[in-house]
Amino acid sequence: MSDAPLLEAIAARRDDLVSLTRALIRIPTLNPPGRNYHEICAFLEARLSAKGFRTEMIRATGAPADSDRYPRWNLVARREGTRPGDCVHFNSHHDVVEVGHGWTTDPFGGEVKDGRVYGRGACDMKGGLAASIIAAEAFLDTHPDFAGAVEISATADEESGGYGGVAYLAQHGYFDPARVQHVIIPEPLNKDRICLGHRGVWWAEIETKGRIAHGSMPFLGDSAIRHMGAVLHEIETVLYPYLATKRTEMPVVPEGARQSTLNINSIHGGEPEQDEGYTGLPAPCVADRCRIVLDRRFLIEEDLSEVKDEIRRLLEKVRAERPGFDYEIRELFEVVPTMTDRDAPVVRSTAAAIERVLARQPDYVVSPGTYDQKHIDRIGRLKNCIAYGPGILDLAHQPDEWVGIDDMVDSAGVMALVLKDLLA
Ligand SMILES: [Zn+2]
Repeated sequence: MSDAPLLEAIAARRDDLVSLTRALIRIPTLNPPGRNYHEICAFLEARLSAKGFRTEMIRATGAPADSDRYPRWNLVARREGTRPGDCVHFNSHHDVVEVGHGWTTDPFGGEVKDGRVYGRGACDMKGGLAASIIAAEAFLDTHPDFAGAVEISATADEESGGYGGVAYLAQHGYFDPARVQHVIIPEPLNKDRICLGHRGVWWAEIETKGRIAHGSMPFLGDSAIRHMGAVLHEIETVLYPYLATKRTEMPVVPEGARQSTLNINSIHGGEPEQDEGYTGLPAPCVADRCRIVLDRRFLIEEDLSEVKDEIRRLLEKVRAERPGFDYEIRELFEVVPTMTDRDAPVVRSTAAAIERVLARQPDYVVSPGTYDQKHIDRIGRLKNCIAYGPGILDLAHQPDEWVGIDDMVDSAGVMALVLKDLLA
C-alpha cells in the first residue's frame, strides 16, 4: 500500500491532535514534587484502552521520590498485531518542570494561537506524546492486519532522573530486547532531526578542609576557602584548556558541546547562609569547610575512570604543593555516553520517513545532556533507540513554551510511516 492513505489519516486527525495536546497540558504534572501522575495516566489509559490497547498502570513503588502523597505512576499500553513480529515502542515522559516567571499565557491553559499550542510541557513533551498517539491510532485504523505490536508508554520523573519512570520499567523487564525491539522517545529535537544518544555525565562534590578561628586572627586557623581557591585556580588554568582540546566525533548540538565540558554547579564555604529575615551581621570566622559540585560532561571517546582520575590527579597536585591541604571527594551521579548506530533499524526507518514526509535528509544529532535513553540502553540493554519528536528544544523549560501544530502533524506522519515500515 502507498503512504498516501496513512498520511491522509494523520491529516484528518489534526484537530484531534490539537485537542489531545491541550488536554494533556491541562493536567499539571509538575515535577517536583510529582503532581497528578495518576490523573494523566488514567486519562491516557481511558483513551488507549478504547482503541484496543491492553493497558497497565504501574506505580514505581519504592523508587526515589515515590510516596503515598506523590506516587510515581506510569502507563504502558500495548496493542498486539495479527501475527508475530517486532514491537515498536513510543516512550514519553508525562512530567513537566516548574512554571517559573515571565508567562504571558496560562501555563496550564493549552491556549491555541497562530498555529501553536502554548503551555508548560507543550514542547517538552506533551506535544510529542500526543503526536505518537495520533500516529499509532492512524496506523491501526489503516493497517489493522499488522505484525508484532505497538506500545505507548507515559512515564514519570524524566525531569528528575527517570528513576520512578523508565528506570523502574527497565528494571522490571519492560524494555527487555525480547519484548521490545524499537524505541522512539518523542522529545523535542525538531521534526527533521534524529537524536542518536547523549554525552556522559559525572557529578562529584569536592570538600576542602580547614580549621575555624576568629576572623581577626586568621593565622590561627586554616581557610578551607583559600584551599578551594587553589583548586579553582588549577581547574581554571589547567583543566579548562585541556578539556577544550578533547573533541568528539559525536554530532552533539549545540556545537559548543562537541567537546568535554565542566560546570561548577555550586560553591559553599564558611558559615551557612542565615534564614531570610535575619537582619544581623554575619560572624567573623575562618571557614573550616568549602564545597563545590562539579558537573562534568564527557564523550564517547572518553573513559569514565579517566574522567574521575583527571580530578583526583588535580587534587593530588594541589595537595603536593599546599601545606595543610586536605580534601574529600563524594561521587553523586554518573551516566555513561550512548550513541545508537546510524545503521540501526529504527534510525534507518525514521530517516526514510523524514525524507518522505519533509522531502529532505534528516540531521543526526546527539544531546549534550542525558535523557531516558540512558535507562533503556543500560538497564534494558536495548540499543535500537532514538529520540525523535516535534518541538524546538530551546523552548523547553522556558516561559511561554509552545509546540507548532504543523510540526506535530508532520512528526506524527513520520512516526506513522515508521510503524508502517517496521510492522505492516
Ligand atoms: Zn523532556
